[in-house]
Amino acid sequence: MKASPADQKTLLTLQSIDTGVQRTTHRAANLPEAARISELQREIEGVRLRRLEKVGVRDDARTELGRIESDVAVVEARIKRDDARLLQSTSVKDVEALQSELASLKTRQNNLEEIELNVMQRVEDAEEAVAQVDAERAGLQELLDEVAAKRDAQLVELDAERTRLTADRDSLTPGIPEDLLALYEQRRARGGIGAALFRAGTCGACKMSLTGNDLQAVRSAPSEDVVQCPECSAIVVRTDESGLI
Ligand SMILES: [Zn+2]
Repeated sequence: MKASPADQKTLLTLQSIDTGVQRTTHRAANLPEAARISELQREIEGVRLRRLEKVGVRDDARTELGRIESDVAVVEARIKRDDARLLQSTSVKDVEALQSELASLKTRQNNLEEIELNVMQRVEDAEEAVAQVDAERAGLQELLDEVAAKRDAQLVELDAERTRLTADRDSLTPGIPEDLLALYEQRRARGGIGAALFRAGTCGACKMSLTGNDLQAVRSAPSEDVVQCPECSAIVVRTDESGLI
């Protein structure tokens, strides 16, 4: 295949654009923020499960407290009722019975109040445990939002770079002869690099130094000849920088 040295040189610009597109795509797919986001999401899920557990403990304690409070209320009502009866009672027998009942009711009241205090403490502790988990979750969520914003900003930047590179490519390709462009695309599809500079006897694509007949063939080929690397088949572009002259 023949192509003017200028057209061949254009392939180097095209390759640098394509490498740039490849780099931005790779960077967008491998942002360190993405891994950090997954990690934080896992941590938040763990915290959510722990919160469920703590909320369960708190709700159980609250239910128990409610039950004891109603027991206390029942005992208090009975004490009040017996106190009233005691004031009105004239029978010694009734007074004795009421006093004995009042004594046991007061013992029961004291016991219940002691239990109530314990359960109130448990409710308080459980509420604090829930609040702690909530604070932990809020902290993680804040961190996640920060990292996600950072990731989004980078994606926007990379996307803009890709758009710019694609526009550069679109303005460049119509000027390249079709057969040369087709060969370039074919090589690129195979090995990732379509064209590379040939410099100091070395292929810029596979970095292989040519020797002997291979080197001689590249050196002696007319400048209009499209030469491919015998090692990786990339189009090797010879310019003033190639050190052949
Ligand atoms: Zn090569």
